[in-house]
Amino acid sequence: MQDNARAFFEQAIATPSPSGYEERIQKLIRDYITPHADRVRIDVHGNLIAEIGNADGPRLMLAGHCDQIGMLVSHIDENGFVYAQTIGGWDPQQLIGQAMSIWTDSGEVPAVISRKPIHLLNQDERKKVVGLDEMWLDVGASCDKQAREKIRIGDPITLDLQLRPLMNSLVSGPGMDNKTGMWTVIEALRRAKALAGAGGLGCHLHSVSTVQEEIGLRGAKTAAGGIHPDVAIAVDVTHASDCPTIDKNKQGDLRLGGGPVIFRGPNINPKVAARLIELAETNNIPYQLAAIGRATPNDANVLQLHGAGVATGLVAIPNRYMHSAVEAISLDDIDHVAQLLAHFAAALKSDDDFTPGGQI
Ligand SMILES: [Zn+2]
Repeated sequence: MQDNARAFFEQAIATPSPSGYEERIQKLIRDYITPHADRVRIDVHGNLIAEIGNADGPRLMLAGHCDQIGMLVSHIDENGFVYAQTIGGWDPQQLIGQAMSIWTDSGEVPAVISRKPIHLLNQDERKKVVGLDEMWLDVGASCDKQAREKIRIGDPITLDLQLRPLMNSLVSGPGMDNKTGMWTVIEALRRAKALAGAGGLGCHLHSVSTVQEEIGLRGAKTAAGGIHPDVAIAVDVTHASDCPTIDKNKQGDLRLGGGPVIFRGPNINPKVAARLIELAETNNIPYQLAAIGRATPNDANVLQLHGAGVATGLVAIPNRYMHSAVEAISLDDIDHVAQLLAHFAAALKSDDDFTPGGQI
C-alpha cells in the first residue's frame, strides 16, 4: 500500500460521515481522486462518482458506501444535557462510556455518553439491558443556553474517530463499515488506470462512494439511476468468524487477513463471481468464499435490481465487532480487494456476456 493511499485511509477514518451527513468525507475523497480521474462529480443525493476509461465501453460501477452509523441531536434539556436518536443499527450496550463528537457548523464539540454508575443501580437495573432512553450526552455545559450556543437540533454525532493499530496489520476503530469498502473502490480506480497502461481501459469505470447505505441502501439506488451500469460490484464489510463466540457453521469460515470475500448466491451474477474467482487465482490474490441465500443487506441488493437488471457482484472485507467503536479489519485485506477490483476493471471488455448460461 502506497503511503499516500494509507494516509487517505487514515484521514477517511478520522472524517465524520453519519448517513445523510457525508459532505465532509466526499470532499476528502474528491481531493484525493481528482488527479487520477477523467471526471469527478457529486450528484444531488450526495454520491461521489469518479470516472475513467472508454466512454463507449461497458459501464462498470464499483460501489462502496462511505456513510457510517451515528446519532442525531434531538433534544437539549434545561441543564444542557443532550439527548440523541440513532442513525443506523446500534447495540446501545456499545455506547455506554464512549467518547463522542458532535459535529456542528462551527466544528467539533467533544462529548461523552453514559448512564448512572453501577453503585447507584438497583438489583433490577443491574440485570436489565440498558436502552438508549437511559443514556445522555454530556458536553460539560452548565445550562441549556450554553449548550445551544454551540449545538443545534439535527447536528450529527459520531463515536470518537480514532484509529488504533493492532498486531499483524490489523487496525481497529469506528466506521470500518464501510470506509474500508469506499477506500477499495477509489483505490481500484487509481490502480486500474496503471494496469491498463497507455491503451487505457476497455470499460467505462465509475468508482462510487455511495451515501445512506446504513438507512436503507439509498445512495446506491440513486447512483445506479444516474450511471445505468451494465456490471456492478458492491464492496462492504462482512462478519469475520475468527474470534470467540461466532459460529462458523452459520457464518462460514472467514478470517481477517484471509483476503477478499467473494460472495455467491441468488443476489450475485454467477459469471461475475466466477470472473472474480478466476482473477484472484491468476493474479495470486488470496480470497475466501461466502454464501448468502437471500437478498443481501448491502448495496448489491439494489444494484442488481436497477432497470432491467445489472450483473452484480459482492466482494466483502472481513470485519470483527461490526457497528461498534472497535471494528477491526486487516489492511492486507483492503489492499487485496483494491487489487482484485482493479484487475476486474482492466479485464472487462465490450463483448463480455454476463447473461447466466449465455445467450441461447
Ligand atoms: Zn456497510
